[in-house]
Amino acid sequence: MPHAVRTNAVHGTLRALGWARFLVVVAALVLGCARIEPPYAIKVIDGDTLDVWTGEKIERIRLIGVDTPETKDPRRKVQRFGKEASTFLRKTIKGKTLRLERTEKDAYTRTLAFVYLPDGRCVNDLIIKEGFGYAFVKYPFPGLERLKAFEAEARSAKRGLWRDFVYERSYVGNLSSRVFHRPNCVYAKRLDQDGRIVFETRKRALELGFTPCGSCRP
Ligand SMILES: [Zn+2]
Repeated sequence: MPHAVRTNAVHGTLRALGWARFLVVVAALVLGCARIEPPYAIKVIDGDTLDVWTGEKIERIRLIGVDTPETKDPRRKVQRFGKEASTFLRKTIKGKTLRLERTEKDAYTRTLAFVYLPDGRCVNDLIIKEGFGYAFVKYPFPGLERLKAFEAEARSAKRGLWRDFVYERSYVGNLSSRVFHRPNCVYAKRLDQDGRIVFETRKRALELGFTPCGSCRP
């Protein structure tokens, strides 16, 4: 009987210690977060979009000039490299106070912005330099030429998504589905002359709003 009481007391103490340790960890996390000054990221939506706590509100930020492979669009399969792009963004900004250089709002009322790290590096630049996204060239914006140069650099160094990138002579778009393919894709071969459009570059197809085929993954 006394043995059982002692065992219970020991278990009780251990349980209490466990809770105490848990509370300390929680407090450390809360304090740790509190030490970061806003604006900071609270959620990465995909490789080029994030939610930021500004200190007053949550603001959805779309990194201007950057186009990363989609991961969240439910109508599409996860595009090649989409997850890697999200992970890169998450790791790059985690726990850091960000500086936002807002430009304007886009059609989806997201704020378009350049995002800077405390050491002054521009996140938009880093994504393209490291090969986690393309320069978005649909609309002109300050810094477009710089981002295009970084993309060329990443491509020639075969970084990230450019690692096993193969130049194609052309891409074939389906005018009714607005999906584009590599020329040797079975779906491209089925298209007749009136139903197809040929793009010289992948970028051109994207600019015109065409979606990469989930099968041949152009
Ligand atoms: Zn295809």
